[in-house]
Amino acid sequence: MDEKKPLLGSKAVISEGFVVNSPIQRYPGGTPQTQYPRETLVGAYSGGPSQQSDLPDGGPPQGGYPPQGGAGQPQPQSGTAVQQWKGEMHDQEVGDNRDAAAATLCTQPIEKMYEVPGYSNMGFDGSRVPPPSYEAATRQPTQRAEIQGLPQIDEIEARNALLQHVSEHCCYGSGAAQSLRFTDLKHSSAFHYTLETFGEARSTAWAYDPYTNQQIDGPQNGHAPGPWDILVAPPSMFKKQQSHIEVPHSAVIKPCHTCMAMGRVQCQKCFGRGRIQCTSCDGFGHKTVFRNGEHEHESCHWCHGDGSQSCCTCHGFGMVKCTCCQGHCSLKCYIKLTITWTNHLTDHIVERTALPDHLIRNVAGRVVFTETQQRVWAINHFPDAEINNASNRLVSQHTTAFPSEKILMQRHKVRIVPVTQAMYKWKDTDSDYFVYGFEKKVYAPNYPQQCCCGCTVL
Ligand SMILES: [Zn+2]
Ligand SMILES: [Zn+2]
Ligand SMILES: [Zn+2]
Repeated sequence: MDEKKPLLGSKAVISEGFVVNSPIQRYPGGTPQTQYPRETLVGAYSGGPSQQSDLPDGGPPQGGYPPQGGAGQPQPQSGTAVQQWKGEMHDQEVGDNRDAAAATLCTQPIEKMYEVPGYSNMGFDGSRVPPPSYEAATRQPTQRAEIQGLPQIDEIEARNALLQHVSEHCCYGSGAAQSLRFTDLKHSSAFHYTLETFGEARSTAWAYDPYTNQQIDGPQNGHAPGPWDILVAPPSMFKKQQSHIEVPHSAVIKPCHTCMAMGRVQCQKCFGRGRIQCTSCDGFGHKTVFRNGEHEHESCHWCHGDGSQSCCTCHGFGMVKCTCCQGHCSLKCYIKLTITWTNHLTDHIVERTALPDHLIRNVAGRVVFTETQQRVWAINHFPDAEINNASNRLVSQHTTAFPSEKILMQRHKVRIVPVTQAMYKWKDTDSDYFVYGFEKKVYAPNYPQQCCCGCTVL
């Protein structure tokens, strides 16, 4: 290999020296092999230094830098087998580098090295893939059943509901609830329309795992299918979920770009020195103590006067295991398809009394209409025109609201929630409260006995 040729950052070099085609030559017939001969992978790599590397000239993989055992694998650090860092390092003793973890993260692009047809311009961030278009011409309104009314509560039920409500508030007095006189019960119905659109979004990104001789489903097995050609059914409908899968035939093996296939990288805590400044004496090797009325120099017990101490991150070796490949030197790179299912729910409440509308949302009522289809048709047969209008508006909104998603299913329903406004007289005062929902919940902001002594608030 040409010494000046960049090792990374060029697709040509990678395919020539490394991955994509070699399995085909070795294994005619394309059967995936569980054991890739390791020397093939590393042998192609060990030709020369990288000019795009962050590592300095004269550094790896020349000189004392290549791993022990020639083109073989460097062993993850253990005991004396681990080499000392021999690349560039600071002349002076260095302090504790607190950003060490961040500094060893993988930073170089993979996406420029290898292309899969149908997956161009893809990075690590998971860009969304637009879904195929939907043929709206198949939509037709369906036959729909008539809508039934609701049972109404009587005075006994209205009073019991209020007594229950009072008992749930420890400060409320129950006298008024027991003795109030009903003047009227006004029955009405609230309508709750909900439209759910269950959509699926797909995004793709490069991903990698340490290569540990696992099976590789690469291009030798065929073309990678397009992001929307991979059949994946949602685990359940109308629920938010996410799933990740490896795109078939997209995997390749490549040398780890972070450690240059060394398996280890310079320790960023000590910058490869293996030692850091003693934190006890700040590198002086001695401390000044006040003893017997005088200042005296005393050798630092911590570093024995040395001024430095062994780096606890790399145990003095100056190198640490590469977090990118976990010391395995090679990576399995593949395209990760992320499928996100989202249930978009919007609703509209029609409630024409003084009862706050939002209270209707969380109480039980009767579902008088429900329909589930890939695309629903706005309802037009409900007795209340406001519901029909809301359905029309929301169905139309949902048609274009989620352009990056494929709509898998829609469901809409209308619930009728009973509401009774109970008008009453108590101690010559007229007031009212509301009983709503099948649970007979009470909304009584004007209840007259709301403090501990049972006094009148009104
Ligand atoms: Zn010291
Ligand atoms: Zn270190
Ligand atoms: Zn690595």
